[in-house]
Amino acid sequence: MDEIVCPKCGRSDKLFLISTIQKIGTAVGGGVGSIAGYFGRGSGVCAGAVIGARIGSIVPGVGTVAGIAVGGLAGAFAGFFTGAAIGNYVGRYIDKNVIAQYRCGRCNATFNR
Ligand SMILES: [Zn+2]
Repeated sequence: MDEIVCPKCGRSDKLFLISTIQKIGTAVGGGVGSIAGYFGRGSGVCAGAVIGARIGSIVPGVGTVAGIAVGGLAGAFAGFFTGAAIGNYVGRYIDKNVIAQYRCGRCNATFNR
């Protein structure tokens, strides 16, 4: 990693990456992930609904519906965490490599790399 130095005070030890996109990415990724997980269109995430429906089918009818609901919810949660993780990662990448805005903890200056 190349060294980033504050243009105002010349220090490099108290710099913080301003993570604007990372936060947005986490929220958007989490939202999209939960929807994708709930509807189970993505690969793997629909397993929750299928397993839930199967367990629920022990009590036919109502159990199946409840099972799909619970399983779908589990899928939504799994989707949320997967989506949030990807969104967080992508957001952090954009923050670091595209926007690259930093704040200096010493003199409080904000600057672009
Ligand atoms: Zn500074």
